[in-house]
Amino acid sequence: MKKPESFWEKKLTPEKYKILRKKATEKPFSGELLKNKEEGTYVCGACGNEIFSSETKFNSGTGWPSFYDAKKGRTKLKKDFSLVIPRTEVICAKCESHLGHVFPDGPKEKTGKRYCINSKALDFKKKGKKMEDIIHKTKIINLIKEKATKTKNRKDKEKLKELEEAVKNNKKEKINKIIKELPEDIAKGVIEFLVNVPW
Ligand SMILES: [Zn+2]
Repeated sequence: MKKPESFWEKKLTPEKYKILRKKATEKPFSGELLKNKEEGTYVCGACGNEIFSSETKFNSGTGWPSFYDAKKGRTKLKKDFSLVIPRTEVICAKCESHLGHVFPDGPKEKTGKRYCINSKALDFKKKGKKMEDIIHKTKIINLIKEKATKTKNRKDKEKLKELEEAVKNNKKEKINKIIKELPEDIAKGVIEFLVNVPW
């Protein structure tokens, strides 16, 4: 996927362009992803190629995001003689953008490698939506419970209890039926939430 430099210059922010396409190095401890501990995948900041799993990230103390391994076939290595000591440059295998360097002083118990990568050369994709979906569902259930506690009407309370069960068990038809039976003021907030449920 060879793209002309003008393409990248337009697509990327000036900072990202300098690093990814002109091999600049960001200031240590300046990158947003340095302290990121969320589960997910680090992708090439230029083309989105999945490069590192969060599982291989470690704190090297250098000020740059560090990984002890890259996903198979996603990077290419190049000798870099721009400093006195030759280094090994890490580039994206797909778009050949510069990501950082790899050094042989990583965690011994793992691969022994340290991929020293510019935070701005990467973007982060949080792990699948699943966890968010679960959180969303939990929120709805809590909302229903709260409404059940607040309502004085015994019938509505029972209906809300049924609704809670129906949400827990993904019974979409039942949910729709109960919603229709509930007084509008009670149903309202719940409906707004339910629109975004991934059934
Ligand atoms: Zn790339």
